[in-house]
Amino acid sequence: MGTNMGLVFFPAFDWAISPTHPEREERLLYTKDQLFEEGVLDFPQIREYKAEPASPKDVARAHFCVPDVSAQATEAHLIAAGATLVLARALCQGEIDRGFALVRPPGHHAMRVAHGNRGFCNINNEAIMVEYLRRHYGFRRLAIVDTDVHHGDGTQDIYYNDPDVLYISFHQDGRTLYPGSGFPEEVGGPAAGGYTLNVPLPPGTTDEGIHFVLDEFILPVLEEFSPELVINSAGQDNHYTDPLANMAFSAQGYARLNEKLKPHLAVLEGGYAIETALPYVNLGIILAMAGLDYSWVREPDYPRGGLSEPAGIRPYLKELVERLWSLWRRRGSIMDGSFRREGDFYRRSRSIYYDTDQIREYQEERVRHCSGCPGYTLLSSRARRPGREEVAIYAVSIPWQACPRCQDEAREEYDRAVSSPGAHRYLYLQDKPRDTYLCFDARTGVETPC
Ligand SMILES: [Zn+2]
Ligand SMILES: [Zn+2]
Ligand SMILES: [Zn+2]
Repeated sequence: MGTNMGLVFFPAFDWAISPTHPEREERLLYTKDQLFEEGVLDFPQIREYKAEPASPKDVARAHFCVPDVSAQATEAHLIAAGATLVLARALCQGEIDRGFALVRPPGHHAMRVAHGNRGFCNINNEAIMVEYLRRHYGFRRLAIVDTDVHHGDGTQDIYYNDPDVLYISFHQDGRTLYPGSGFPEEVGGPAAGGYTLNVPLPPGTTDEGIHFVLDEFILPVLEEFSPELVINSAGQDNHYTDPLANMAFSAQGYARLNEKLKPHLAVLEGGYAIETALPYVNLGIILAMAGLDYSWVREPDYPRGGLSEPAGIRPYLKELVERLWSLWRRRGSIMDGSFRREGDFYRRSRSIYYDTDQIREYQEERVRHCSGCPGYTLLSSRARRPGREEVAIYAVSIPWQACPRCQDEAREEYDRAVSSPGAHRYLYLQDKPRDTYLCFDARTGVETPC
């Protein structure tokens, strides 16, 4: 008896950034060939599901799409996100114990406000899945472990002030790789300091180094947090052959990581070594998730004698793990230093760059201080795409944990903003307690559900 395991493939044939872009459909086609060749889909415990599109409302639970969901999410995006919901449903209905959504486009760089494409992502597949699980199945405490080589800055952003989602990301150090963030001091917002944990790894880190961090920090912290579900943002670009990064992880390393982490749901993120890494890494992960033997999975070019850890990495990792433990122990009493208390609110300003679409966004975020809940968030954001006029939006987000006073205050704030929009073209309400998502167009005076 193994574990019942669900798979969804969605290679998105009709979506690409450009014909020669590394984020393309072959990323999944070679994996599928490999699985057929090895007969993996014939195992009785492995079941394949068909992807279905997510609804605009599913997306609006996670994002403020500017101006609306259809502007940010093509059909391919909705199907990739929807594929994760198919597996979430199968899991909650007891059909499967674990699920892996092998989909593209990826999502972990898509932030709460979505003006365009960042790091190949428009909408965040994991966040859409988490919000769906919470809304439809009542989950509360969840952990997202991001094993992509890039910092999952979008997922971090969406859950930055949510103490019920533990977000842990390990990635190649942001000083040496896109998106340039993901440092230990990014610990979370005013109500959730310590519930975002970033583990920047030096270029060249091997299986040994990653497993050291996993064994000495990530797994014990997960045990202390004891989430109801563990979700894996499964990026395969830590692989030693990946063309976009400089790490030295192997298919065996990834499979063993998965066996230890035991994620309930995994969602594919990056991984751009289409022939030399993805078929083996994904195969290893699928076998590990299904509780099957993966010891024979090996890249054809894997160096004899293995990949050795560069000198200096282990002492660095030991110090890093110690520092992260001290942040985790102080969770709830620390916060990201870029927030400043101003009266009843914490405020921070940021500039966000969308590399793919060359958009520069300026965002001001205010989080209501409240002793009874994480507080609601007010976002003022303006962005300019080359050759187009600037768009300014104002958004009110009410978390599902909001206390009655914060809920009332936030809804009044949205009504106030609608009656005097100022320079804001679009006004949004994300009301999670009522599961209501509204967009008001100040130019036409029309309010529509998202
Ligand atoms: Zn990561
Ligand atoms: Zn990546
Ligand atoms: Zn409150």
